[in-house]
Amino acid sequence: MDKVEQREKFIDIMARFTAYTGKHLPDDVYVKLKELREKENTALARIIYDAMFDDLEMADELDRPCCQDTGIIQYFVQLGTQFPLIDEIEDCLREAVKKATLIAPLRHNAVEVFDEKNTGNNVGTRIPWIDWEIVPNSNAATIYVYMAGGGCSLPGTAKVLMPLEGYEAAVKFVFDQITSYGINACPPLLVGIGIAGSVEVAAKLSKKALLRPIGSRNTNPRAAELESSIETGLNAIKIGPGGLGGESSVMGVHIEQAARHPATIAVGLSTGCWAHRRSIIKINADMGYEIISHKGAVL
Ligand code: SF4
Repeated sequence: MDKVEQREKFIDIMARFTAYTGKHLPDDVYVKLKELREKENTALARIIYDAMFDDLEMADELDRPCCQDTGIIQYFVQLGTQFPLIDEIEDCLREAVKKATLIAPLRHNAVEVFDEKNTGNNVGTRIPWIDWEIVPNSNAATIYVYMAGGGCSLPGTAKVLMPLEGYEAAVKFVFDQITSYGINACPPLLVGIGIAGSVEVAAKLSKKALLRPIGSRNTNPRAAELESSIETGLNAIKIGPGGLGGESSVMGVHIEQAARHPATIAVGLSTGCWAHRRSIIKINADMGYEIISHKGAVL
């Protein structure tokens, strides 16, 4: 396969995979929603979950996005240093978004700042947003696709606390936010928390926390315990599906951390919604691929 063919193949795979992401929830989210539905005792909560599963079934049958807000497309790329399209992968991802917008179709969600003009193809200045991680000695690219909706993780927030306020203040910040604007995202929520030394690192880590498999725990035992405690506390608020009350508030709480400056504790918060469209694909040097997030998916 020459460079031109590789490029065309890559764009085609990523366009179809991005469109697919808007129509099918990943396996872990699906399983968690089913588990949460079983815990509900009230008719209203069960009706809301039934509506979600009906919606997913119809999205599959009719080949349409499962939510009207197909979000801003964000790619988190773990890029092998020997991946053949390394020089042009950014351009290929932009082309893939344009193509996905037509074939899915995806709602037009890229508005140029200052010009206040919708580009009409979900591509604009620095959009799709692409986050890079370099993987040494690899010729593959593992790409996370995330559709960030205007009600869920786009209105994230972050704050730098004074160190004397301690981690208790970080927890208070999370609860204050979730019990106020957090409800803007359609519950049950997935809560991503970043703790670091500066506001931009904490914010970015809070988004990366949303990419982890639902139910996974931080490898640091203290952080894992905090995830579990916050999850228990948020569930005790009983926000319920759709925010209408129920046994659970969240699908999970994930924390990611970076070492902090002694004088600062920064905390970032991103909330995912029940329609948590996060998918993972691994593309090899020969443009063969493996879909990691959706078992049996056919593009
Ligand atoms: S919060 Fe999620 S499910 Fe609700 S409208 Fe936004 S993207 Fe759709």
